[in-house]
Amino acid sequence: MTEFELIYKLINTQTVERSDVLTGIGDDCAVLAVPDGYSLAVSMDTLVSGVHFPDSASAFSVGYKSLAVNLSDLASTGAMPAWISLSLTMPVADENWIREFVSGIFQLASQYNVQLIGGDTCSGPLSISIQAHGFVKKPLLRSGARPDDLIYVSGHLGDSALGLRAYKAEENIAEGCLKRFNQPEPRIELGLWLTQVATSCIDISDGLVSDLGHICEKSCCGADIQMASIPLSDEFKAYFNQQPDYITAITFGDDYELCFTVNEQHSAAIDAYSNQSGLRLSCIGKIRSSGSVCFLDHDNKIITINNKGFEHFK
Ligand code: ADP
Ligand code: MG
Repeated sequence: MTEFELIYKLINTQTVERSDVLTGIGDDCAVLAVPDGYSLAVSMDTLVSGVHFPDSASAFSVGYKSLAVNLSDLASTGAMPAWISLSLTMPVADENWIREFVSGIFQLASQYNVQLIGGDTCSGPLSISIQAHGFVKKPLLRSGARPDDLIYVSGHLGDSALGLRAYKAEENIAEGCLKRFNQPEPRIELGLWLTQVATSCIDISDGLVSDLGHICEKSCCGADIQMASIPLSDEFKAYFNQQPDYITAITFGDDYELCFTVNEQHSAAIDAYSNQSGLRLSCIGKIRSSGSVCFLDHDNKIITINNKGFEHFK
């Protein structure tokens, strides 16, 4: 078996088979049918070994996370995921590694009925690019926030940062945080529901400071955030004892939670959704008509934040 035959054999273990995939893997192009009345939402993310995941990360979690971060972009747009393409560059075609890697992708893909429809395979330093395609009627954008809108975040911030710390230090702490680092949960259902109520949305990949900054920039507004309202998990708080590291929680990123804005009239609906879904949704502040993103302490004094979040080429 050649290396390419090996890869196609393993890729063909996927179980999802959608009727809107007219031609899938095996031809020069995939041919796909978009349902009437919907637009196609498309997003691509690349994960590079040693940059986005430790060189020693398990093949399963590399596969899982590569898809999760892409589905997260569809979630923040309020799109229903449908298809993915996969560009895989790896130093050697190791059968066990690829089997584990695709099983990480396919586990999450089957959860959302997402079909792999094609891609490319090259030899070189380990790097994975996935393009995700989804359907949307009324997309959530970064540009729709309005003055006095309430700002919310889903879940908890900072767990992924602590997970990586635990992983690097080989510390036997923060099991849940390590899982959140390796296998973030794309907030697809929340994104779909938010298309009815939110004015803007973004997923938190580079940290709240930076990502809420994008909403403010695109919406031409500022924001006041109460630092004490930033949602932290029990595990995160326990690790830091009485002094939780809020700066890490708002700057490290890799959380893949959604940050969104809504008109105040929808706050009861948000609480109801949170209760019914079991997903924590925390109001952390308010959109202002101008200025930047300000984090405030208990006395409403501005907290200076020097670390603006993760940036490549820095
Ligand atoms: P071409 O030379 O026409 O680009 P390839 O030989 O690269 O075609 O690929 C053959 C088929 O296998 C195509 O349908 C392509 O989409 C698919 N394919 C190649 N690599 C991958 C991959 N990593 N994941 C999914 N499909 C792949
Ligand atoms: Mg071709």
